[in-house]
Amino acid sequence: MTIQATLIPGDGIGPDVTDATVRLLDAAGAGFTWDRQLAGTAAVNAVGDPMPDATLDSIRRTKLALKGPLETPVGKGFRSVNVALRKEFDLYANVRPAKSVVPGLRFSGVDIILVRENTEGLYIGIENYVRIGDDERAAAQSIAVVTRYGAERIHRYAFDLAVRLGRKKVTLVHKANILKFSQGLFLDVGRDIAKEYAGRVTVEERIVDACAMELVTKPERYDVIVTTNLFGDILSDLTSGLVGGLGLTPGANIGTSAAIFEAVHGTAPDIAGKGIANPTALMLAACQMLDHVGKADLARRVQGAIEATLREQKCVTGDVGGTATTAQYTDAVIARL
Ligand code: NAD
Repeated sequence: MTIQATLIPGDGIGPDVTDATVRLLDAAGAGFTWDRQLAGTAAVNAVGDPMPDATLDSIRRTKLALKGPLETPVGKGFRSVNVALRKEFDLYANVRPAKSVVPGLRFSGVDIILVRENTEGLYIGIENYVRIGDDERAAAQSIAVVTRYGAERIHRYAFDLAVRLGRKKVTLVHKANILKFSQGLFLDVGRDIAKEYAGRVTVEERIVDACAMELVTKPERYDVIVTTNLFGDILSDLTSGLVGGLGLTPGANIGTSAAIFEAVHGTAPDIAGKGIANPTALMLAACQMLDHVGKADLARRVQGAIEATLREQKCVTGDVGGTATTAQYTDAVIARL
């Protein structure tokens, strides 16, 4: 049986890494039928809209998408399409695993799943300038919103995930010492939810700055992390760095009405069009997607082939110390299957 899914190649290195991933999934017999759609700058250039209705309609229909990175203009232009997609499909849980596989790095033994709240916090898009005298931009404010509903569901998601995967510990990461209201509510709700899992998963708390320090001194002591939107965004790039960089870490955006799978990295404009991007992150996102549609065994097999290729270090891309092109690395992973 084939599974309908939306495919958004994206901008920059997006088309290269999505092509590689689709090739791998086809070789694995994953059975997806792709509905190719546009978003981001590619969509602006083609149809004058960064998030065309056709793309949204496709995701509404399939409830499942694999997405390359999308360019977001900095400080001007259209708002982030990624953020808009998260809102549109209520993609409240962003699951970003980071695991040590590439040998010879500064850190080993890292195996962290970071669960980031994806719809609230400082990313809700309520921002404005404050005029003082003649200066229209004399000040600026951005509002962070944490709701009990949002905090409950993300904590529950993190604890359920920990139980399902046999993980031992969940760390609640916050800044409730300073942001007593928004972060305080997030932490209080987390403590309440944790009680429901007592005896099954250990819980601990860390203030985000202390967590950042410990992640680079004792990363192996972290297991599952659950945190708010901005902290999760920053810490997941940090955990990517621990295991070899952005080319390696995937992200699932799980919602109530759809799920979208992508890499943590962006469009990598510095290497776009050169055919040398590392497609591992999106390939691992595809493994998360296989798991999501109930093909856990195939997900493990594909992930095993990716990890074995990385461990061997014979045919890997430049960001992880090799000289292979995107296509050569993809061939090597497929050969491993
Ligand atoms: P980036 O992730 O694109 O690049 C950061 C660095 O990592 C660059 O040196 C890049 O070459 C390297 N890198 C990233 N992915 C790689 C890969 N697969 N293989 C090898 N090297 C890789 O971050 P940025 O430069 O801050 O952002 C560029 C654009 O991407 C911006 O417009 C940003 O808004 C967008 N972005 C999109 C997403 C998304 O769509 N989910 C996420 C992050 C950034």
